Amino acid sequence: MAATSADAIDQLLPQTQCTRCGYDGCRPYAEAIAGDRAELNQCPPGGAATIDALAQLLGREPLALNPANGVEGPLLIAQIDEERCIGCAKCLPPCPVDAIVGARKQMHTVVVELCTGCELCVAPCPVDCIVMLPRAALKNEFAEPTPPLNRERFAAHNARNERRAQAQAELLTSRKRDAASAQ
Ligand code: SF4
Ligand code: SF4
Ligand code: SF4
Repeated sequence: MAATSADAIDQLLPQTQCTRCGYDGCRPYAEAIAGDRAELNQCPPGGAATIDALAQLLGREPLALNPANGVEGPLLIAQIDEERCIGCAKCLPPCPVDAIVGARKQMHTVVVELCTGCELCVAPCPVDCIVMLPRAALKNEFAEPTPPLNRERFAAHNARNERRAQAQAELLTSRKRDAASAQ
C-alpha cells in the first residue's frame, strides 16, 4: 500500500503547535507518522478523536493516548492577570498564532477568538501572571479557532519571523560594509 502523505495526516491534526507530541509542531509530527517514525497516539489536544481519524486514514488500529505526553482535557484558554502584567512582552514570541496583543511596557491581553490553549506563553512569563482556564468558563463564550485558521496564523507568524530575521541580517551586513568602507 502506498505511504500516506504528511499533508493528509497534517489535515487531521489540531494545529495548536503545542509541541506536546515531542515534535516541533503539528507538521513535523505528521511527517514523522508518514515516515513510520512515530505512533499515531502522541497528540493530547487531538485526543481520541484525532487518534481514531488517523487510524482510519492509515488503516491501523487505534491506540490509547500516550499518557507521557499529557491527558485529554477540556479546551483551555490563556488569560492574563492584567493588574500584574509588567509589559515585558516575553509572552509574544512563543505564541504560534499571535494571539497576545500589547506593546513593551504596556499591559498585554489575550485575543480569545485566536487562542488555541497551547500553553506556550505560560512558562516565559517572569511574573506568572498567565493562567490557563477552561474555555467554557469564559463569560463571553467564543467558538474555539479552527485547525485551518490555526494553520494559517502559524504560517503568517513564521513568515513574519523570517522577514524580521532577513531584515536584521541585511542591516548587519550593511553596517559591516559601512564600517569597512570607513576604515
Ligand atoms: S497539536 Fe498535537 S500534533 Fe500539534 S504540536 Fe500539539 S501535540 Fe503535536
Ligand atoms: S495565548 Fe498562549 S495559550 Fe493562547 S495560543 Fe498563544 S501561546 Fe498558546
Ligand atoms: S510575559 Fe507576562 S508580564 Fe510579560 S507581557 Fe506577557 S503577560 Fe505581561
